[in-house]
Amino acid sequence: LNTMLSGLPTTIFTVMSALAVQHDAINLGQGFPDTEGPADLIEAAAAALRDGRNQYPPLAGVPELRAAVARSNARFYGIDVDPATEIVVTSGATEAITASLMAIVDPGDEIVVLEPAYDTYLPVVRALGAVARPVRLTPPDWSLPRAALEAAFGPRTKAILLNSPMNPTGKVFRPDELAFIADLLVRHDAYAICDEVYEHLTFGNARHLPLMALPGMRERCVRIGSAGKSFSLTGWKVGYVTAPAAIAACVAKAHQLLTFTTAPNLQRAVAVGLDKDTDYFTTLAADMQDKRDQLSDGLRAAGFEILPCDGSYFVIADIRPTGFAGDDVAFCRALTERCRVAAIPVSAFYDTPEAPRHLVRFAFCKKKEVLAEAVARIQAGV
Ligand code: PMP
Ligand code: GLN
Repeated sequence: LNTMLSGLPTTIFTVMSALAVQHDAINLGQGFPDTEGPADLIEAAAAALRDGRNQYPPLAGVPELRAAVARSNARFYGIDVDPATEIVVTSGATEAITASLMAIVDPGDEIVVLEPAYDTYLPVVRALGAVARPVRLTPPDWSLPRAALEAAFGPRTKAILLNSPMNPTGKVFRPDELAFIADLLVRHDAYAICDEVYEHLTFGNARHLPLMALPGMRERCVRIGSAGKSFSLTGWKVGYVTAPAAIAACVAKAHQLLTFTTAPNLQRAVAVGLDKDTDYFTTLAADMQDKRDQLSDGLRAAGFEILPCDGSYFVIADIRPTGFAGDDVAFCRALTERCRVAAIPVSAFYDTPEAPRHLVRFAFCKKKEVLAEAVARIQAGV
């Protein structure tokens, strides 16, 4: 058996979701909304099925969706791309991340990964024979550790994996932090794989700025989006990659090997979604911000300290003020079993014994009544 895969534990999201089912718990662990996505997208997907859109679509994605991704890049960020050569549709951002790494790395290349890191990054880097150079962000503010980042870049650096807005921290990278990263990429002739699945989920004054929109970055960045997050349809698994033509061609080759194509009816529906008016995206973020505030206030009242969160589906709680005797993993297990609320230990996003052990991630992408019930259970039980 493959050593890396046989040694890889089942993802924490599946472990905690299974535990939640077992204990009839409210699942604030795995990040998925508990409401349906927009009715017009669901209708468009159903109509496309009935219209006979059921055979292999073009490898790089249906033209309607590639054109809509290009329009979205221009509308929100002023990034102009050629939909025919610079967009590739994938089966979710998960595939897009793997395909982008496959497109860029050779064995022995070094990839800088910021920790806490989304759970597919490190295993895929290693499966490709590349070497991960982790750089740790420190709570509670998770600001960019500039000296450590600079030290991680060297002659073998091929790329950085950058997730903004960031899961699990809720951090949205600031323009000055992105400029610092851009400067390192130029100096080391490196690429960035930018996981921007939460691009439309930013709160307050925080604004998402793609690294690709910075001067000199157009040729160095691979930008990844996901219909799952932008349209609350996580089960659809439609992702989209924007990259310079030479990289996009290589991403398409990787897609050819991994899945070859992505469900055509879903692609057509996502094209409808990307063309929605700006109000849709503003309302999506405002609703999510309201949920963030509701859950944060409730957890604060239950005795947790709440870390700042400017984007994503997630807020992090510091469990130390509750006096719990044990680490984040034990806490999440106890919370699921005793309070019947599931959450995710933040140490799962690190690959080092030095990971913080006092932080727990809660998903707030749930109905307000569900959040209220979760908070009531936690307040009664902690
Ligand atoms: N990247 C991040 C940071 C995520 O949180 C997720 C999952 N929510 C993904 C990628 C995967 O997205 P998808 O479901 O489109 O594969
Ligand atoms: N991205 C989701 C999260 O962070 C989960 C995705 C998954 O279950 N693999 O909760």
